[in-house]
Amino acid sequence: LNQRLSGFGTTIFAEMSELAAATGAINLGQGFPDTDGPAEVREAVVRALRDGRGNQYPPAAGVPELRTAVSAHQEHWYGLSYDPDGEVLVTAGATEGIAAALLALLEPGDEVITLEPYYDSYAAGIAMSGATRVTVPLRPDGQRFTLDLAELRAAVTPRTRLLLLNTPHNPSGTVLTRGELAEIAELACEHDLLVISDEVYEHLVFDGDHLPIASFPGMRERTLTVGSAGKTFSFTGWKIGWVTGAEPLVRAVRTAKQYLTYVSGGPFQYALAEALRLPDSYFTGFRDDMRAKRELLCAGLRDAGFGVFVPQGTYFVTADIRPLVAAGVELPSNGPDFCRALPVSHGVVAIPSAVFYDDKEAGAPFIRFAFCKRPEVLAETADRLRAPA
Ligand code: PMP
Ligand code: GLN
Repeated sequence: LNQRLSGFGTTIFAEMSELAAATGAINLGQGFPDTDGPAEVREAVVRALRDGRGNQYPPAAGVPELRTAVSAHQEHWYGLSYDPDGEVLVTAGATEGIAAALLALLEPGDEVITLEPYYDSYAAGIAMSGATRVTVPLRPDGQRFTLDLAELRAAVTPRTRLLLLNTPHNPSGTVLTRGELAEIAELACEHDLLVISDEVYEHLVFDGDHLPIASFPGMRERTLTVGSAGKTFSFTGWKIGWVTGAEPLVRAVRTAKQYLTYVSGGPFQYALAEALRLPDSYFTGFRDDMRAKRELLCAGLRDAGFGVFVPQGTYFVTADIRPLVAAGVELPSNGPDFCRALPVSHGVVAIPSAVFYDDKEAGAPFIRFAFCKRPEVLAETADRLRAPA
């Protein structure tokens, strides 16, 4: 392993899913739904396969039908207008979109600011690009994990090239407010920074609307927005994502992307072109369903004695293990050890949030549960967690 990737071993998601398989525990670790996305979208893949659409290399930027649908989706939901030819790029999941953008836009020595905790692929993507990661903490304020805008401002240096944002935010569940986004946008404009905005949970905002930072003044020309079929349509195995942005930025990402995977998932692309045009009720229904699951799991975690940060978005909830440990549960008092013991003691897998932190001590009290699971699975989880160790 080269120096840039030293320190990046197996991702926590693979590790914890293996632990779930080995112990038979309920897997609320890795974020994937236990109910597949819409049947008509799956049928559309079968049709594409049968009709011979996408069985050979699709166009480098993605099939025109999907690019047009992504463009129409951004216009319909956010009033953002992107040319399907040149301002939309289909990628092998959001992961590739983010990595290709980092590889395309950064020089060694550039600094990238990202929020901490951060989704694990950000650190690896920044490292592979040769740039340097600078983190600004989201701190628990009793209600939510909150960004201190003064700290963000203070993190900007002459070397800062890019902000890598994520709202709704994995793992904290924080949704950045209009006011926070406006200030971040001002900062980006003031220092001429590029922004990669990971919005894969755009349709999982439980209170209010999702706001893409690209829609703020001065931001369209400097922002790449990333979406994912895995998250929006519950097809994490298909690995199709998309990037929208101003033409020069998207062209740069396409250059990197064509030498990573070139293209991916032809038949899936045709099906997702139909999925993105589903009536609004699909998207609001998906959100409402997930909100009900949030209530179920949060109540179960509270009953079990965890501190609970009710997420404003995503399908993750962060729990504080300290109240539980203080109440005398025979489990380790730091998140990583707690999560290794929990499948054995209670038959449940969660992710230790410390893996999303550079400051391991700051992340130690927190663990992350995914609630994109059937209600009976969440109820069973609550029962198991209530039982004494
Ligand atoms: N960003 C965030 C914040 C995520 O949680 C995930 C996990 N799905 C991704 C990106 C990666 O998405 P994909 O599976 O489409 O690569
Ligand atoms: N995004 C998912 C999560 O946060 C996992 C993706 C993965 O396994 N790499 O759980």
